[in-house]
Order: sequence, then structure tokens, then C-alpha cells
Amino acid sequence: MEYLAHRQIQILDVAVAAELLGLRLSNGICQDGRVQAAPRGASVRVRDSLSAMPELPEIEVLRRSLRPMLVSERIVGLRIRNPALREPLDRRRLGRRVRGRRIVELRRRAKYLLIDLEGGYTLVVHLGMSGRLTLVAGDSPVQQHEHVAFRLAGGGRLAFRDPRRFGLVLALPTRRLEADRHFVSLGIEPLGEELSGGTLAGLARGRRGPVKNFLMDGRLIVGVGNIYASEALHRAAVHPRRSVARISLQSWQRLAAAVQVTLRQAIAEGGTTLNDFADGQGRSGYFQVSLRVYGRQGEVCARCGRAVRRIVMAGRSTFYCPGCQR
Ligand SMILES: [Zn+2]
Repeated sequence: MEYLAHRQIQILDVAVAAELLGLRLSNGICQDGRVQAAPRGASVRVRDSLSAMPELPEIEVLRRSLRPMLVSERIVGLRIRNPALREPLDRRRLGRRVRGRRIVELRRRAKYLLIDLEGGYTLVVHLGMSGRLTLVAGDSPVQQHEHVAFRLAGGGRLAFRDPRRFGLVLALPTRRLEADRHFVSLGIEPLGEELSGGTLAGLARGRRGPVKNFLMDGRLIVGVGNIYASEALHRAAVHPRRSVARISLQSWQRLAAAVQVTLRQAIAEGGTTLNDFADGQGRSGYFQVSLRVYGRQGEVCARCGRAVRRIVMAGRSTFYCPGCQR
């Protein structure tokens, strides 16, 4: 196949812009922010914000916004319009495990929202690439791609919409959650005390390879996506290509703190820009966070004044400052 150089550059820019906005390109040229060459004459369109791929901070904002409205509600009904999600829904089993049960708590593990129910079951929701979970009035019209809906005793409807159907809805016994195949190989949570300089140094022991890839490995640490990895590395003044075998404990400590500050800031900012999760509209905005280096190649580093650079690592856009990241 033949590709046009200028076309690739153009697509690259759109890909960066799309990832920056939390958007994904619609025609299969780019998935998951990866930049690929496109056939001659291919059209590039950025989808609307319904295609924004949710990252950990968005799931955390979703959890916090739904929690006060859902805890102590009771699920009284279930409607499945399309069971063909990432894993096919088992209507009877899901119904048996959730119907009539009161919601006792909302938790999060990695990018899974966990809705604990009385009676020892947990409703597990993963938004995949394009899923949205919203609480709407029970009598509001069914929305497009609303594949699953839970009717609540208080009159609301918890609706799961997912145009691309990479999402997941299932109910599991709560006590067996950690051992379940969806959870068993997940890395440590980035927001709690589990993440420290010491834990990172321990995870890195005997490993090699660039620290950015290490941070993004969900089997080690969950929830550090491509954008947040670049941001945390800049904050900690660590070069994204530095080998994990050559990082001091002091740098791991800076990095652990930087990951947490970066994610917490995204949660705080996202919570203020994305109230629509809670009111059920779910599509007016994308997750807006302020970024130090991501998408800013050629701009001046706020810390040292050098120009921010863009490189590609493991197929992903990576931004860093050559002046202050070592
Ligand atoms: Zn700098």
C-alpha cells in the first residue's frame, strides 16, 4: 500500500489532538491513540464526545457523583435490549443476582465500577471504549444504544449506553471478586497508600525497560494512561525513556507522588467540568484537565524554559522536556 507523507503528518496531529481531548477517531485509522498510516485519501473525522474513552479519573468521578444517589436505592427491575456486549449478558443470571436488592456501596477497582448489593453480590460495570452509565428519570425515553437499564425503587433508571459495545455489565459474588478473572491480574491502585516509592522500586526490581512503559503496565499499577504517564514523569522530572533499573529510591518516591497528584488533579478538575455524568445527560463535555507537557511540543517548559518534545514510545505519543527530565 502507498501512503502520503503529508497525510500521515496531518493524521498524527489529529490523533494527538483527539487523544488530548479524550476522543477517538471514527474510521479505524486510529484506535486507542495509536498512530497508524492511513490509505491515500482517507477521511479523518473526530467523533463526538460519546466516543471518549473513559480513564480512571472519569470512573472515579462517576463513582463519586452516583454514590449519593444510589446508595440505599433498590433495584426493582432490569431491562436488557442488547445482550451482545464485550461478554454476552446472561439475562437470567444477572436478573437473579440484582433484582430486588438494595445498593449498599459504590467502589472502584481500576476502571471497573463496583456496585455492592445486599445479599453478597456486586454489580460490575466497565465502560469499555464508549460506555456511559447515567441515572435518568424512569419515564424518560430510552436513548440510543441503551443496552441495559436497571429500574430503581425511587423512580430512577440506571442506564448503560454503549455505541461500540466494548463495555461490560455483570454481577459477581462480592467475596469472590478479587479472585475473578477480570480482577486477578490487576496491578496496585494508584490513589491509595499502596502506591509509594518503596512499592514502585519493589515492582521494578529485576526489570528493565523504559519507565513510561512500566508506569502504563496495568499488571503492575492500574489507571496510569498514556496522557497521565507523560504528565507524571514531567512532574517528577524523570525522562520517559529512563530504564527502571536505573532509578533511585528518591526518584521513585517523587514519581509515586507525581502519579497521585496528577490523577487527583484530574479527578478534581474533571469533577467540575463533567457534572453531566450525574444528571444523566452524559454527553455535553469531555474530561477537561490542564496539562503540563502532553500535546505541547514546541512550547516552553514551565519549569526550565526548554521546548517540550514529542517522541513515540510503544506506539504512543510521549511528551517530555529535554531540559529538566533526566
Ligand atoms: Zn523543563
